[in-house]
This record gives sequence, structure tokens and C-alpha cells, in this order.
Amino acid sequence: MSKFPAVGVTHTPDYTIERVCSDVRRHFAFHNIDKQVLNGKRVLIKANLVMKRTPEEATTTHPAVIEAIVRCAQECGAKEVVIADSPGGPFTVGALRGIYASCGMQQAAEHTGAVLNEDVTSFERERQENELVHRFTLIHTIKEADFIIDAVKLKTHGMTMLSGAVKNLFGTIPGLMKPEFHWRFPKKDVFSNMLVDLCETVRPDLVITDAIVCMEGDGPSGGVPKQVGMILSSRSPYEHDLAACALMGLSTDEVFTVSHAIRRGLCSETIDKVSLVGDPLIRCADFLMPKSKSISFSDKIPKVFLPVVDKLLTSKPVIRKKDCVGCGKCAESCPAKTIRIVDRKANIDYSACIRCYCCHEMCPVRAIDIKRMKLFDW
Ligand code: SF4
Ligand code: SF4
Repeated sequence: MSKFPAVGVTHTPDYTIERVCSDVRRHFAFHNIDKQVLNGKRVLIKANLVMKRTPEEATTTHPAVIEAIVRCAQECGAKEVVIADSPGGPFTVGALRGIYASCGMQQAAEHTGAVLNEDVTSFERERQENELVHRFTLIHTIKEADFIIDAVKLKTHGMTMLSGAVKNLFGTIPGLMKPEFHWRFPKKDVFSNMLVDLCETVRPDLVITDAIVCMEGDGPSGGVPKQVGMILSSRSPYEHDLAACALMGLSTDEVFTVSHAIRRGLCSETIDKVSLVGDPLIRCADFLMPKSKSISFSDKIPKVFLPVVDKLLTSKPVIRKKDCVGCGKCAESCPAKTIRIVDRKANIDYSACIRCYCCHEMCPVRAIDIKRMKLFDW
């Protein structure tokens, strides 16, 4: 038996609210989340609300899943349930309201009486045991929560490969402070280790994942919806992400949040050691990966050439000028400040680009492609 918390699985075919509620109730039961745990508590649901998108675009946690989590928390006696995120771009009340409306959160709140967070202040939390960052600035609503539910939308991710339970917590860092972390930690590996520090600092109490319709391809916002038909849950974000890798056909060697969690002794080493409860975990062998997925040449090329080859092979963001509307959201989110808007079109100076793909993630009209050199595109 695993020494880590179990991962719960339900086969949930669609977003019919009665079915989603009944399955989320099963997930609460898998982890013994009941009146004894939640009575009188302030529950915070950290949704994934990266940008203004409709639920059908599979970019944000579906409102039916959020509504079901709110209802289950209320059934367990929660005093207050708050829905929150710090999406990409400035962390302002106006920006939050626009996103809540488009992502269906406003309706979920109206149906249930949940509160949509409008507190845009922040606080600092220290954790000396962390490896890279010992003090994080976090959105203030985290401080007041008695119980945090990490409400994930399962997606691929251009930089971290997996947008799962650990990555979702990057949205607890206020607005435009997020690009600073990309600038400080430009390498995927180190950035992902920082995310593990962040996860240890925020410490969500429960993960519930909308994997009913996921995003495949160029996630977390430029990919396409993929019907999977599952909800996952765990009291461990790391065991959860290990199971999510198995679902999506990702090796833990290429998802550094998971490989660092394994190295730190925070989760099982392989999926066979994860304790699974509920329905069988479906494994989707045909999950499309982001174009930024790296190709390993380490066994084919002399070590001395690897840094040059690595630079050549790292996919780059390319603006499709005909589709660019000159809104400037890419420039605003670029940690390297290497995007200029000229004549209402974005232009990238690649000499300073750190390949973090924040621009790709934040473009509202999907006018930024991720491109690999054709020579290596096999
Ligand atoms: S590339 Fe996208 S985000 Fe950047 S200015 Fe053009 S439309 Fe806006
Ligand atoms: S241009 Fe895009 S990929 Fe390059 S540093 Fe800026 S945001 Fe990151």
C-alpha cells in the first residue's frame, strides 16, 4: 500500500450538472471530506481561469465542475465558499469580472451563493525548507482560507508539458508578478522546481480535476479540446500529477514538476505504486503534445555540441501577422520585454527571447504559433 494519499477516478462523460455533482460527491467520499472536515470552514476553490474564454474552449475549469465542488462543500457545512484565481495579465477587479463572466463563474456563483473573489491585495508567506524560493507573494484570499481546493483543468502546457495540480497553483501569484518568475527561472527544469516550492508553500488540501474535456496540443490556451470523460482527485497534488501523466501518456522525465517531486520524496516513483480508487484510470495513448515538446539528441550528438543544438531545437513563438490585432497582451506578459507593437502588429526580438511561451499563452486571438525548425520536425 502506498504511503501517499490515493488518487480518485470517476468516469464522468459530460457536464450534466446532476452527474457532475454526484461524481464530485464520490470524490469527496474517496478522501473522507465530510462535515467533520468542512463544517464552519471557509473553503477556497482555486480554479484555472487563465483568460477570457468560454467553457466550450476547454481552457478554463468548467463551471459545472466548480458548481459541483461548491455544492459538495456546502453540503459538508462550509461557512463560505470562495472562487478565486489570479489569471494572466493585471490582477484587477475589472479584469477578474470580465473573466468570471466569460468563463461561466458568474453563473456558477449565482446558482450556488458562492463568492467570486474580488480582493486583489496580496501577502507574503515564508517557507525556509524550500529549495529555491523561501518567500512567495500570494493573493490575499489564500491567507483567509481554512481549506483550499485546487480545481484543475487538465491540459498540455508548452513549457511545463502538464498543466496539472502543481502548475495550477502558479495562479496564486498576483497578476504581473508571474512573468518575473519566468525571468528569474528561464529553464523549464528550474522553473518547475520553483513550482514545487510554491506548491509546498500554498499546500492545497484537495485536488479536483476537470478531465471531462481536456486540452491537447498547444496548451494551455492554444490547443484543442479533447473528450476524455474523467474527474480525478487527490489529497496529494504530486500523486495526482503522476496519475495525470499516465492518463496523457507523458513520461515523468519530461514533466519536471513530477520528477522533482519524486526526487524530493514527495510522491511515488511510478504510477504502479499510486493507490487508485474508484473507476479505472483511462490512459489516452493519442494525446497530442505541444509543439515545444523537446526531442532528445543526447545519445546521438557529442556532448560538446548539445548547447548549440539545444538552442537551435527549442521551438520559438512566431506571430501570425494577419491575425494579430495589436492588443499588446503578449508584450505585457513577456518577462524578457522582447516584444514591441509596431503599426498594431507584435514583433519579437529573438535574441532576448527565453522561450517561456507566455506570449503564446496570453494571446486572446491565438495569433502566436509555436514553431520548431523544419529540418528537425519529424
Ligand atoms: S500577437 Fe496576440 S497578444 Fe500579441 S498583440 Fe497580437 S493579438 Fe495581441
Ligand atoms: S517572446 Fe514569448 S516566449 Fe519569448 S520571452 Fe517573450 S513571452 Fe517568452
